[in-house]
Amino acid sequence: MRLFLERVPLPCSALGDYSYEVLDTKLARHAKPQHIVQLCVYSDLLGRLHGRRPEWMHVLLGSGERESFRVDEFLPLYRRLRRRYDARLAEGFAGTYSEPVERCGLCRWSGHCAERWEEDDHLSLVYRLDRGQRVTLGELGITAVARLASAAADECPEGLAPETFERLRQQARAQVRERSTGERVCEPLPAGRMIAGSSITAAFTAAQYLRSPEINTKSP
Ligand code: SF4
Repeated sequence: MRLFLERVPLPCSALGDYSYEVLDTKLARHAKPQHIVQLCVYSDLLGRLHGRRPEWMHVLLGSGERESFRVDEFLPLYRRLRRRYDARLAEGFAGTYSEPVERCGLCRWSGHCAERWEEDDHLSLVYRLDRGQRVTLGELGITAVARLASAAADECPEGLAPETFERLRQQARAQVRERSTGERVCEPLPAGRMIAGSSITAAFTAAQYLRSPEINTKSP
């Protein structure tokens, strides 16, 4: 995605008889609310820089079409969102927690989040345990790898198939055992497949993925 400034023949205090408007490129079929909020941020900053609030902001879509929006129409909404965000920021975002998502590898906070997940022994460290399963297990108070490893078979929550619960328990057990003994652990699954400890599987977990130097040198 690229951001451009378009020169328009409207005077501003910093530049004289011309000023700029913001144009952002998006690989989407229609402009989305988050695109407009993003444009509002840029237009607000640009307005402060050159002493005139831009009249329009534009999105150039993947189809090559352009959609334009009046800045004045959206700025009050943006300012409201900004006030709410600043208030939450001042409170330290109490009650929120970062959950791994696909784009974590491109995020500048990935190192911070990876450390936090490791400190918390977060369930995302368990290989092939997805977000829905984390929510289901979390409702039963199973929020850490070690807790899952020590869970009894009859703790299987309603939203999980017993076979899946068993696989996740075994996986957690293998990883916990491996990190405490340093030995590679393999356990047979009932279906005859093998489950491995962290030396094999953790390479694919979110925290490991985020720690890789290759990922962490990518710009957001
Ligand atoms: S690494 Fe970035 S995208 Fe992923 S959970 Fe943390 S803050 Fe969110």
